[in-house]
Formats: sequence, C-alpha cells, structure tokens
Amino acid sequence: MHEYSIAYDIYATARKAALEHQAIQVKRIFIDIGEMAMVNPDQVEFLFHAIAEDDPFFKGVTLETNTITPVVKCSCGYEGTTLYVCPVCGALPELVRGKEVLVSNIEVEVA
Ligand SMILES: [Zn+2]
Repeated sequence: MHEYSIAYDIYATARKAALEHQAIQVKRIFIDIGEMAMVNPDQVEFLFHAIAEDDPFFKGVTLETNTITPVVKCSCGYEGTTLYVCPVCGALPELVRGKEVLVSNIEVEVA
C-alpha cells in the first residue's frame, strides 16, 4: 500500500525531527504532495492519524497538505507545465517537479 508507507515515512520523519529539537509535542506537519505522485492526500492523512494515534508526541497534531503543480523541463530549454509533449520541439519533456511527497516543515512545542 503506497499511501501507508508514505504516511509512515511522514510520521517517522516528524518524530525524528521533534526529538532532534527537544520538542515535547508535534503541533503541525506541512507536507508537499506532487500532483503526479499518484497519492491520495486524504488517505495519507487518514493513515497518518491512524499510525500516530497512540503516540503522545502527536496528540492533537494537524497535517497541512500542499499540492504541487507538476513542472517539466525539455532538452530544448522549454520549462513549464505542459506535461507530455513539449510545445516547442515536440519531444517528451522530463518531469522535474510534481512527483515528490515530502515533509516541508514541522511545528513543534519545546519544553
Ligand atoms: Zn522541447
């Protein structure tokens, strides 16, 4: 299950960051989800809460997901949001943004 491993990753990343910053509580986690990542943000959020539920670190935590618009880059120099065919030369451009799922920021409470 794709979404489950992503949700678990977010949990593990946030927990590690919180420990590194001597936090007592994780308040908010900001996540970038690329439109091309083929991930359902609602499902990730649901699974994240299921995973973090029993962890006192994450009591009352909220998840803020931000959808990232895909951006491509072509060998001819074109860069933009036309995904499958380069509008300049007709080649298949490379996806440079929009496939990622990552934690962009974490808000914690420090003792
Ligand atoms: Zn091109």
